[in-house]
Amino acid sequence: MVEKVGVIGAGQMGNGIAHVSALAGMNVMLTDISMEKVEAGLEVIRGNLSRQVGKGKITAAEMDAAMARIKVADSLAAHSDCDLVIEAAVENEKIKTAIFKDLCPHLKKSALVASNTSSIAITRLASTTDRPEKFMGVHFMNPVPVMQLVELIPGIATSEDTFERFKVFTGKLNKTTVISEDFPAFIVNRILMPMINEAIYTLYEGVGSVEAIDSAMMLGANHPMGPLTLADFIGLDTCLSIMQVLYDGLADSKYRPCPLLVKYVEAGWLGRKTGRGFYDYRTGGEPVPTR
Ligand code: NAD
Repeated sequence: MVEKVGVIGAGQMGNGIAHVSALAGMNVMLTDISMEKVEAGLEVIRGNLSRQVGKGKITAAEMDAAMARIKVADSLAAHSDCDLVIEAAVENEKIKTAIFKDLCPHLKKSALVASNTSSIAITRLASTTDRPEKFMGVHFMNPVPVMQLVELIPGIATSEDTFERFKVFTGKLNKTTVISEDFPAFIVNRILMPMINEAIYTLYEGVGSVEAIDSAMMLGANHPMGPLTLADFIGLDTCLSIMQVLYDGLADSKYRPCPLLVKYVEAGWLGRKTGRGFYDYRTGGEPVPTR
């Protein structure tokens, strides 16, 4: 029975996972590299819960109870009494591996560990922990409070019991799960990210403008959001990391990241989270295309 959930990384995904876990009645410990980062994550949760209250989806009392269940810290030692810990730090294997090395000695023996990675091999991440049989990929979608799906990715050593316990946990969150084998980028991003990368190539080669590409896919393919808007929403650093994992992991040139995506990331134009990506969001009004 999961009573206390640990979440590592208070960015877009981590704060979403903390939000839905607290709303489902579980206690949450949310950590990041600094108190400034966790406090910022907590403010985002407060804002998102308020929006749900405003829309009548939850009551003000439910919001207050959820906020009271979330505690924050800047050290991995704070996860020592968690039943389950989900890592949602940046999409960088070295950073994730270092987190697991630091984290494991603090954990209860029975604690389960998951990564919210979008693409990195679960079996490889699991092997860097002291509990590969208690480790699994649990891939939430962005924004977590809104999106229905969670991909469950068992690694080669994940036990049946661990899988079942994560299934119960995601059920408590009212999410729908699909099972993916542990291959680069799993199901959703194996299909979605090459499409986004191709949209960036379409821009890079001058086939269409930012607005033309997004309008074409919204009105011509009935996508609710254009691929470049979606890339900004996901984070261009995350998109690039996923393409690199596909390219390296499958050794097929069809996955090569578009040089324009690399350039945007090198510029620090990472999308909505930094105020500028394929669109500029800094005016606060309608986003303005940057090309
Ligand atoms: P983000 O950039 O919004 O947040 C990442 C957070 O990790 C930051 O707050 C950062 O300070 C923190 N962090 C960095 N190093 C850390 C460390 N050593 N210890 C603890 N925290 C650390 O990124 P995000 O979009 O929330 O992505 C997080 C993870 O979720 C990534 O693995 C990503 O691939 C995955 N993911 C992202 C999406 C998406 O649409 N953005 C969807 C599903 C999964």
